[in-house]
Amino acid sequence: MRDLALLPKAHLHLHFTGSLRVSSLREMSAAHGMRLPHALTDGVALRVPADERGWFRFQRLYDAARHCVRSEADMRRLVDEAAADDAAEGSGRLEIQVDPTSYAPFVGGITPALEIVLDEARSASARHGVEVAVVVAASRMRHPLDARTLARLAARYAGDGPGEVVGFGLSNDERRGDTSAFAHAFRIAQRAGLASVPHGGELLGPGHVREVVGALAPDRLGHGVRSIEDQSLLASLVESGVALEVCPASNVSLGVYSHDEDVPLRELFDAGAQVALGADDPLLFGSRLLDQYETARTVHGFSDAELADLARSSIRASRASEGTRKRLLDGVDDWLAA
Ligand SMILES: [Zn+2]
Repeated sequence: MRDLALLPKAHLHLHFTGSLRVSSLREMSAAHGMRLPHALTDGVALRVPADERGWFRFQRLYDAARHCVRSEADMRRLVDEAAADDAAEGSGRLEIQVDPTSYAPFVGGITPALEIVLDEARSASARHGVEVAVVVAASRMRHPLDARTLARLAARYAGDGPGEVVGFGLSNDERRGDTSAFAHAFRIAQRAGLASVPHGGELLGPGHVREVVGALAPDRLGHGVRSIEDQSLLASLVESGVALEVCPASNVSLGVYSHDEDVPLRELFDAGAQVALGADDPLLFGSRLLDQYETARTVHGFSDAELADLARSSIRASRASEGTRKRLLDGVDDWLAA
């Protein structure tokens, strides 16, 4: 049995605070004299129903963790550890998602907040041997004009290398906000060459996916799993090459599916979808990138050749340079040949 930690892969769906190690969160909260809800530190994966109350509980815990990240040192530590943890699991390319608005009050604004993340992403890439690029994400909970400001900021740092902004996202509760109101922000980002990587199709079904596709022209969908409920929609995503950042542990934690085996990973794969497995928020879901590949193997019965295909898919869906992609894809071939 080949070691999945040695399989080169790209990690395209990981949130900033959601990537925190529990031990680091504990230290940060102690240093700032903040109290943490027990559910954040008990080591048990979150389980909530897929309704508004469930989302509220998830969001409240996420916010409690985020409030502990309140200095430049905390932010740098977070990026460094996310890179180290990804590298240890065979990730050669991490595209970490951040909304700098949340950290701006502690470092003097959204520009320094983003620059700190980018600077640390650059140096952590060199230290850990994984390319760390950044997705700037706006929130559905805020005004669409706020998203435009973020898109303009993100555009200034556009590139494909470590410490550069590669994409623009839209996160938070899919049920909130008017998707089309964010179209302008996404056009700003896309004109600057950034990938469009909004969330869609996790909490809501095919209708929402169509809305996101129509308004935001995604290159990748955060989740998108529920497009499986409409075969013609799925076929059009496959045909137009929209990749799906599938996060199985997140789906189960947020109650979208009751059990690991209910996540339609096999069905999406068989339909030809370009799937990039991601961990979303390991802090809350108790499951990192490697666990998603392990689940594909043990729960969904993926063979090593199929796991290699999943890894290739993640690499191709990344915004890494041609050179990096080739190096990682060659590594996948070597892994399979071994
Ligand atoms: Zn997410």
